[in-house]
Amino acid sequence: MLHFLLCSMMEKGLLPKLSIGLALVLLASCADITSIQGAAGEEQANTTSVAAPPTPAPVVATVVPYATREVTIRPGEVQFLKFQRPAAFPEGELWCGDQKFPVQEQGTELISFISESYFSELERRDCSWKTASLVYKIANFSIQKRTFPQEFLKVNPRTIELSGPDFERVKSEQQVLGVIYANSSKVLFFEMPFKRPLKSRITSYYGIQRLYNKVKKGQHLGIDFRARVGVPVPASNRGKVVLAQDLFFTGMTVIIDHGLGIFSIYGHLSSILVNVGDIVVPTTILGNSGNTGRASGPHLHWGVKVGQHLIDGLQLIEMTEKEFAHGRQNLSSNI
Ligand SMILES: [Zn+2]
Repeated sequence: MLHFLLCSMMEKGLLPKLSIGLALVLLASCADITSIQGAAGEEQANTTSVAAPPTPAPVVATVVPYATREVTIRPGEVQFLKFQRPAAFPEGELWCGDQKFPVQEQGTELISFISESYFSELERRDCSWKTASLVYKIANFSIQKRTFPQEFLKVNPRTIELSGPDFERVKSEQQVLGVIYANSSKVLFFEMPFKRPLKSRITSYYGIQRLYNKVKKGQHLGIDFRARVGVPVPASNRGKVVLAQDLFFTGMTVIIDHGLGIFSIYGHLSSILVNVGDIVVPTTILGNSGNTGRASGPHLHWGVKVGQHLIDGLQLIEMTEKEFAHGRQNLSSNI
């Protein structure tokens, strides 16, 4: 009833001091009420024409507090989202499809990083701000098709057919990683764009479909940089070390939490020079390259995880170079 009263007052111009956010929310939700009234058969008096036109079919309003943005993304990519926190309903969550993404306050706005799975077969996904009772559409994501090349690799057969103890080890490591990935910092650690950890040639790109020893199929969800054993490996951006240990597949591994669900992973190292809890910057040497774990030779495996998905680190670099060109305090655009 109060809502209806507010709507009527607004229509009659009796609410001159509304904040823009509240006004937009009211406008959208009042449209809803109008359409419901229309559906109930109430007609407004028409005093300007002799023959009243037929009542138009009621339009059910979608609640769109801001211009809904169109964003393009491909499987294995991440996009940056920035939007105003709805003033009338500040307590909500950002959902894209069936996944929740963390947000951070940035001035008067909220920022988030939205990732798309390598395996995604969707064509569209909506991102909305959801409260207990309302849904505000923030962006429409259209997901473009992407194809990936194939490569053949020869690796230690022990890493193809796992023995019982190896299988148990992998399982417990996955549990450790699951806890780490579920507890990313709620604030971003970095201000500037991501950088390649090494300037050397890339020997295997993200997404390549792999056939190990001609039998085992897999996808390479990281980037391999050429590196002999012992090349110093720096961090690709500022963050906090959340793992520094030997893992079955990626060998001696360092994982950095960059905040808001973004992690970078450095694998097959020959030595580790940082500890869990260390804050690292792009000049910090995390360790030296090597060929530990499931590697066909010495190189650096660099992975990036955003939300639930391992994504293409080169695309993260490109995207943050655009969005964070002048640092986080001076973000360049809305998307
Ligand atoms: Zn790799």
